[in-house]
Amino acid sequence: LGSLGSLGKSRAKFISAEETTGVTFDDFAGQEYIKRELQEIVRILKNEEEFQNKGIYCPKGVLLHGPPGTGKTLLAKAIAGEAGVPFFAGSGTDFVEMFVGVAAARVKDLFSSARSFAPSIIFIDEIDAIGSKRGGPDLGGGGAEREQGLLQILTEMDGFKVSTSQVLVIGATNRLDILDPALLRKGRFDKIIRVGLPSKDGRLAILRVHARNKFFRSEAEKEILLQEVAELAVDFTGAELQNILNEAGILTARKDLDYIGREELLEALKRQKGTFETGQEDSREVPDELKLRLAYREAAVAVLACYYPDPHHPFTETNINSIQSEPNMQYAETSGREFAKKSDYVNSIVRACAPRVVEEEMFGIDNLCWISAKATSKASRLAEYLILQTGMTAFGKAYYRHQGDLVPNLAAKLEALRDEYMRFAVEKCSSVLRECYSAVETITDILLEKGEIKAEEIWNIYKKAPRLPQPRVSP
Ligand code: ADP
Repeated sequence: LGSLGSLGKSRAKFISAEETTGVTFDDFAGQEYIKRELQEIVRILKNEEEFQNKGIYCPKGVLLHGPPGTGKTLLAKAIAGEAGVPFFAGSGTDFVEMFVGVAAARVKDLFSSARSFAPSIIFIDEIDAIGSKRGGPDLGGGGAEREQGLLQILTEMDGFKVSTSQVLVIGATNRLDILDPALLRKGRFDKIIRVGLPSKDGRLAILRVHARNKFFRSEAEKEILLQEVAELAVDFTGAELQNILNEAGILTARKDLDYIGREELLEALKRQKGTFETGQEDSREVPDELKLRLAYREAAVAVLACYYPDPHHPFTETNINSIQSEPNMQYAETSGREFAKKSDYVNSIVRACAPRVVEEEMFGIDNLCWISAKATSKASRLAEYLILQTGMTAFGKAYYRHQGDLVPNLAAKLEALRDEYMRFAVEKCSSVLRECYSAVETITDILLEKGEIKAEEIWNIYKKAPRLPQPRVSP
């Protein structure tokens, strides 16, 4: 590994290489479930041989998606740090140039460097800059160039055998919706992890991490102050929370004080908020209509979640601040041992239809947009699962698979049954939304006004709102 340092330099600014990142999972706070999920990958990378003997290989690609500053790079570095493997990084925007072939060459460089140090990790930040949909609108120019870069990533990922070279590719993006679907296929970035804005508890945990090396009068005072900041810093990212503490430290030093106090922290928060409110293009650029659609989507998802509560995953809160093709509703950890009944499966299909049904009702079938695009495919996947894997439907108890494929004459039967469930789910979903229209409207209004809403308030509204008589729908 001795030559890693010089490699890092010789590749100029397009690839950065680190022999060890020194970052651990302790450095990332909030959203603990993400770490749990990634821990598994670390274990495989670390004990390569042991797992290979059992036929278990590391996934080839993991895609982290979420707003800037939420710790995606930090997580990628933590995986490398925890596994003790070298870290190679490049950024999609740096790869793309107007000179044809450059992006592809840079991707090639990145992969060949990482491969020669395997097991290793490749991190591609802003992967959407090269991996956006082919044939889509060419916003930034250089379309052909991007396509070359994308093709090169696909070639590289398909080229390495999981069984021989343990190179884990981690991509990061804020724009899952514009990524080329080819990137998300099996054997490529088939593990997608959402890194969202931290909740209040998450913010507190992040503040504690970054307060480690700061001076406070006492532990008790520090805790009280951090709780206050966590409460006030709604919608702040990890990077912004870190900034608050740094800024407070600077203010403290400027005033020649020994300890960070309440005044400095609140001042720093106000400054950060100022840049937050005026500097965030993201929230300013969202057109009103998209906001309205997002609010309706989240409200519909919330009402369905009240109507058919999922006993194992109670919802906790939702918002319209992150714009993605799947609902923003957050769910609590599974509690207790799960067992799902047939009605639970059916209800989950009905719930999954909500984004699509509400958008169609409110904006019309010719005006659907991508924020509900995933709903239909998710619902039909759930229906297929119910039919093929559980044996709980009229389809029967066997798996009906032969060497991995559907037995041909049964495919038509499956499709017919799936369509039946889908039709039922869509009708049921739309009748629930009609019955609870008032709750949907109220939650939509609150989302538009405040940006977010918690489970408690959703339940209150749901229980108190007037209802329309429900037309009968039968399966
Ligand atoms: P992204 O890659 O998502 O844009 P980064 O990983 O670059 O975000 O985050 C920038 C910095 O913000 C990190 O180096 C870290 O100091 C801080 N940070 C962001 N999220 C977290 C978090 N969840 N826990 C602790 N620190 C965080």
